[in-house]
Amino acid sequence: MPEYLYRRTHGIVGLLRRLIEDGLTKAMESGLENLTIDLLDEIAINLGNVPGKDGIRDAEAGEIPRRGHCPTAEDESSPEDPEGPERAQHGSRRPRHTSGGRGMTLRPLPRSLDPLEDETFVGFTLRLARHNGTTPEQVAARLGLMDGLGETPGAVSPWLLVDMDKPRLARAARAANLTVAETDKLLLAPIGHRYGLVSRRYRPWTSPRQLDRPNRWILVRTSQYCPSCLAGDGSPQEALNGGAWRRSWRLPVVFACVRHRQLLHRVCPACRTPGQFARAGMIARPGMEELHPAQCRSPSFPGSDGIRLSVCGTDLSRVGPACIPEDADSFKALLALQGRLDELLATNGPQNISSCGRLVPVA
Ligand SMILES: [Zn+2]
Ligand SMILES: [Zn+2]
Repeated sequence: MPEYLYRRTHGIVGLLRRLIEDGLTKAMESGLENLTIDLLDEIAINLGNVPGKDGIRDAEAGEIPRRGHCPTAEDESSPEDPEGPERAQHGSRRPRHTSGGRGMTLRPLPRSLDPLEDETFVGFTLRLARHNGTTPEQVAARLGLMDGLGETPGAVSPWLLVDMDKPRLARAARAANLTVAETDKLLLAPIGHRYGLVSRRYRPWTSPRQLDRPNRWILVRTSQYCPSCLAGDGSPQEALNGGAWRRSWRLPVVFACVRHRQLLHRVCPACRTPGQFARAGMIARPGMEELHPAQCRSPSFPGSDGIRLSVCGTDLSRVGPACIPEDADSFKALLALQGRLDELLATNGPQNISSCGRLVPVA
């Protein structure tokens, strides 16, 4: 009997209680007054009032085990499973409970999201935190970004935005219910085949021996931004959690959003701090839960009384357009130049480009 009960409920106490209660009711109603496996096998666990997260367990998400079904290794999707994680509506995802190798138990986040086009790892972490009603600090911990001894959220290396080692990447993918390929696309390093300065070929980027210092060509600690992109595309998910903090905004050669025909902002207009600046670590104020991903997380500009609030909180998706040249032709030329650069940076862009009469690799 204990094995049977475990198989039916996976050891989930709420499900076990429901099964036993319904079983006892049925046993009394039938007059047998005996709880047997045959009797329990006739009972479907009631989905409507089973205690779980938010009071409801989701049968489609695999939270209610099938009758007579014992979980096996094949049931548990690998993050590299070509089918990928199970998707729910509007870009949100349901968790699959997986266990890692060497006895390590991974606890995926209760809810995940589809990454947005060209999204950074920082932006995705902020959206995940909001989607799960928790702090970026908690999400970073769950994603395995703080696995060093004594590491604190403030000490998460901002370079994890650029690249991660394979085991860490796989761990983060599992916890976020993404494939490894999807998680890799949140990093800047994969852009390296178009923008050679972040190519994995040049690691370590921070080495003092590297005279050309490619890290000057990536904005590791700050991000430019387009308010209209941050406001989202109007889809339900982006209306809730905002649009993508884009990877391309971390490249100094990107200075305008061609889609919204505006120059990118570099600082928050209220506190004059560069976008997404974190004095230490990857995300400023990682312990704050109430901030929207589009809000400035820097301390406020000192008021007339000289006091700075702990957080500025300006909604960067609502700030006006950046200053543009008064000369309309100049602005048009700038947008055309950005459009050309975007084409070269695009994944499917040309491999070579003509420079001084010679064809040279784009990267
Ligand atoms: Zn934009
Ligand atoms: Zn600010």
